[in-house]
Amino acid sequence: MGKGKLKIAVTGGAGFIGSAFVRLLINRNKKVIVIDKLTYAGDLARLKEVEGRYKFYQADICDETAIESIFKKEKPEIIVNFAAETHVDRSILDAGAFLQTNVIGTRVLLDLSKKYRLKRFVHISTDEVYGDIKKGKFHENSPLKPNSPYAASKASADLLIRSYIRTYGFPAIIIRPCNNYGPWQYPEKLIPLAILAVLKGERVPVYADGKNIREWLYVEDSAGGILKILEKGKIGGIYNLGSRQEMQNIEVVKSILKKMKQPGSLIKFVKDRPGHDFRYSLDSRKVFKELGWRPKLGFTAGLDFTVEWCLRHKDWLLDAGKEIKK
Ligand code: NAD
Repeated sequence: MGKGKLKIAVTGGAGFIGSAFVRLLINRNKKVIVIDKLTYAGDLARLKEVEGRYKFYQADICDETAIESIFKKEKPEIIVNFAAETHVDRSILDAGAFLQTNVIGTRVLLDLSKKYRLKRFVHISTDEVYGDIKKGKFHENSPLKPNSPYAASKASADLLIRSYIRTYGFPAIIIRPCNNYGPWQYPEKLIPLAILAVLKGERVPVYADGKNIREWLYVEDSAGGILKILEKGKIGGIYNLGSRQEMQNIEVVKSILKKMKQPGSLIKFVKDRPGHDFRYSLDSRKVFKELGWRPKLGFTAGLDFTVEWCLRHKDWLLDAGKEIKK
């Protein structure tokens, strides 16, 4: 793709990964519009350092009229869709909003992008669409076997996009990142949740025996990978975006406690999440080899930065944490 000043619409740009991506785009002098409903998980504070350098629309991606009027006015050429309900535990309590935003919302964006002939539709999916795997890794052609309502909603969107690529020659790319972590993550997710618990003087909840394994990618590396795929990826392609850094949840929490000079006895093992996936692991050779992308930050350094960032932004974390459903 050329290096011209294409206008990029980022949905969910006030969220954790979306905002890291918006900050990156703006620092690379791209023209950016952010579309975000500002749910409990959205917060424009994440974009404070680039304030005034992007256009913002508060809108729901399921609201076809609102999104169409933004498309008419702004004429974006590329859309990157981060907007989603993202927390597995919430999807287990109530799948409604997950199907609405993650599937119906994606349908709205697809149809409008088709109607207004956008050049590229980059969809942020997840490694969770594949289900879990005890040994080996998932590659881009592995079957989709989602196990939580969240993962099922994300897999449904991927299938819908696949059908648009095949039926209409629609210019979409699907990206499936592994677990992201880093600054500004909403503190219902494992790493900021553990840090927040310590800051509040509470014990840190860990599901079952904590042996579940996730692959961890620092959020700014993730944003860089997404931009690389947007610029160099093949239209119609699917790209896993992993780090090759797998850790058990218990190891992650122990490292956090160590960095925060807290005893391991603060860990509180709690009843397992129903249907809890045991391990995710991505084969990311495609993005590594075809596109030459590599994450820059190892997990130890990334976790150091994240803990330090949380300590510096304690007030934000405590405030955001007030809305967490127990
Ligand atoms: P997040 O929950 O931090 O942010 C989601 C953003 O989407 C919020 O700003 C929210 O206000 C917005 N949003 C929600 N519903 C909306 C709607 N109907 N219309 C418009 N905006 C809406 O999520 P995140 O962790 O930044 O994840 C971003 C994307 O990456 C998601 O699609 C998620 O499935 C995917 N993903 C996340 C991870 C991870 O580890 N965080 C890993 C793999 C994939």
